[in-house]
Amino acid sequence: MTASPSTAAPTASEIVLAAPRGFCAGVDRAIEIVERALAKFGAPVYVRHEIVHNTYVVNELRAKGAIFIEELAEVPAGATLVFSAHGVPKAVEAEAQRRGFRVFDATCPLVTKVHVEVAKLAREGFEFIMIGHKGHPEVEGTMGQLDHGIHLVEDVDDVARVQPAQTERLAVVTQTTLSVDDAADILAAVKARFPSVREPKQQDICYATQNRQDAVKLLSREVDVVIVVGSPTSSNSNRLREVARKLGTEAYMIDSADELRPEWVSGRARVGLTAGASAPDVLVQQVIARLRALGAVSVRTLAGIEETVKFPLPKGLRIDGVDGALPEHLR
Ligand code: SF4
Repeated sequence: MTASPSTAAPTASEIVLAAPRGFCAGVDRAIEIVERALAKFGAPVYVRHEIVHNTYVVNELRAKGAIFIEELAEVPAGATLVFSAHGVPKAVEAEAQRRGFRVFDATCPLVTKVHVEVAKLAREGFEFIMIGHKGHPEVEGTMGQLDHGIHLVEDVDDVARVQPAQTERLAVVTQTTLSVDDAADILAAVKARFPSVREPKQQDICYATQNRQDAVKLLSREVDVVIVVGSPTSSNSNRLREVARKLGTEAYMIDSADELRPEWVSGRARVGLTAGASAPDVLVQQVIARLRALGAVSVRTLAGIEETVKFPLPKGLRIDGVDGALPEHLR
């Protein structure tokens, strides 16, 4: 049973870790691509947008010689360029090719899967409704697979307003890092308005987002407060905080251990800790150390799904012949 915050002793707190938490296969792969490109071709390696949305990861790679840019005009001729895990619009791919960069694509294969689906159905005459967050690079990348015919909806109200040119051939796609529950509500509204809309064979929200949200739901029921390690720009980390709050559990998101405010955990019997898919374990360990300094006496990890997904590296960066393969159920 969860102890009441008001009755718990300030120094008796237990840290409860969600599982799974932290890095997903797409983030692992993206970081490895930058590191291998640096090792093979030397610094600098240019990266379009933050390789993954985490301040610590970006600063570490910057220290090793990565240069993060937003516009390809900032990249000198002949340079090595990596596309971030979020994916890029077709126009960016074409511009990089035109400028002759040595390009490595760190787009998560699960985002690429959505791009491939969009391109395939567009050839069959489909128009699209995309459920996602405006301005997020993944949404820009997916919408940028087409010149026209893809409409963004961010919430149920947008669904009522969207105006596709036709409704006979309409398909829905989603950003991979949405709230599973919010996306289900929006999808229900899309289906109510457009009953014949085509849904993806398998939902676009990725396994890592789903697993981390399921884990934070379990965690929220066991603890007095949830701390999410993640950067403010990280969509899936923000969703973890929201999921906990929706279940009525106080929840905060921090980019590093020094952002943890003592009053959030003071007098709490159980402090829950999780991390977004782009947050490295070193940050979780630093938060654990800070919680211990604030009085936590034990750490327990909840049971959860074990993730074994591994994605292949791009050709030209494989050094050991081990390049994995997208598992059947994710294709
Ligand atoms: Fe890929 Fe999901 Fe990780 Fe994003 S959160 S990089 S889509 S596995």
